Amino acid sequence: MANTLAGEHYQIVVVGGGAGGIAVAASLLKRDRSLHIALIEPSEKHYYQAAFTLVGANAFDADETIRKEVDVLPSGVRWLKSAVIKLEPKNNTVLLDSGKSISYDYMVVCPGLVLDWQGIEGLEDTIGKNGVCSNYLLHYAEYTRECLASINAGRVLFTQPPMPIKCAGAPQKIMYLAAHNWEKHKSLHDFDIEFHTATPTLFGVAEFVPPLNKYIDRYDIELNLQSNLVAIDGPAKKAFFQQGENKVEVDFDVIHVVPPQRAPEFISSSPCADNSGWLAVDKYTLRSDKYTNVFGLGDVTNTPNAKTAAAVRKQVPVVCENLLASVRGEELDIM
Ligand SMILES: Cc1cc2nc3c(=O)[nH]c(=O)nc-3n(C[C@H](O)[C@H](O)[C@H](O)COP(=O)(O)OP(=O)(O)OC[C@H]3O[C@@H](n4cnc5c(N)ncnc54)[C@H](O)[C@@H]3O)c2cc1C
Repeated sequence: MANTLAGEHYQIVVVGGGAGGIAVAASLLKRDRSLHIALIEPSEKHYYQAAFTLVGANAFDADETIRKEVDVLPSGVRWLKSAVIKLEPKNNTVLLDSGKSISYDYMVVCPGLVLDWQGIEGLEDTIGKNGVCSNYLLHYAEYTRECLASINAGRVLFTQPPMPIKCAGAPQKIMYLAAHNWEKHKSLHDFDIEFHTATPTLFGVAEFVPPLNKYIDRYDIELNLQSNLVAIDGPAKKAFFQQGENKVEVDFDVIHVVPPQRAPEFISSSPCADNSGWLAVDKYTLRSDKYTNVFGLGDVTNTPNAKTAAAVRKQVPVVCENLLASVRGEELDIM
């Protein structure tokens, strides 16, 4: 493929420097030090999001979840500190928010997903105050810790939106950790705990449901399936759930909210997206189903696996081996 302007073209462009982007860049270079890779990432901070749950549960230091992006970037990778605003896969280019256009031979797309705080009426106005917390952003996770540690009695709600979300276990993990702390250090009987999930079952993997149900029983949690948080009034401490045809109002003292989640707009509006807006890749090879020089991994893809860092770990070698096979003009056979 032809080069464009010198300095504007890279052999491999990685979009997003989170769990997937950093791992894929490191893993590609481990296989071939001569690769010419640029990683596009706007944030100077890199987060270990899995530990946000533990921050909320008062079991982990918030600062320990943060690294400088520059410290986790593999040496030899060129960091372009910008956000991609448009994919132009027909021209093998991406457009940056700086106005620059970057061209590539191969692209790996892994910008994660977007937390849709506006997807629940009233949430944006009240998140981070009025007892409304969420582990899905670090500073709100610190407020979760404050809320769950300071409350001594009352009604505490935990919610889960429709799938897909990243870490489908996180909405429940914080609930069990909170209940464990109250059982140990306070009087559990003084708490009314409710779990409201938009899903029809407690968890998507059937084998995990019976053991989880034991904890639901142990902590006397009221389980509300197909109960979707649609609105919240923080100052009045009221949450509104859609349950089939009915809209049900529930008072709370504290509520842990998980926002609905979707693909970033520059993905959903691109020719690389499927009908739901996620990056369309072959679930076995992780190559775009439309563009042979585009691969994807992580939360942004439409693969049927869970959106977790654990999944990213397994996807990285698939992307690396297949991308390099493609560079060599070989068949993709790593799945
Ligand atoms: C509360 C919580 C608990 C979790 N618990 C677990 C767990 O226990 N186990 C587990 O395996 N996983 C867990 N996860 C999920 C895990 O963190 C994600 O699945 C994983 O980080 C996905 O990696 P990714 O690279 O796709 O996205 P991310 O790690 O989110 O990285 C995406 C990167 O892309 C960048 N980006 C965004 N937009 C652009 C753009 N326009 N241009 C360029 N770059 C862009 C972002 O700044 C970010 O750095 C949890 C997540 C949360 C929030």
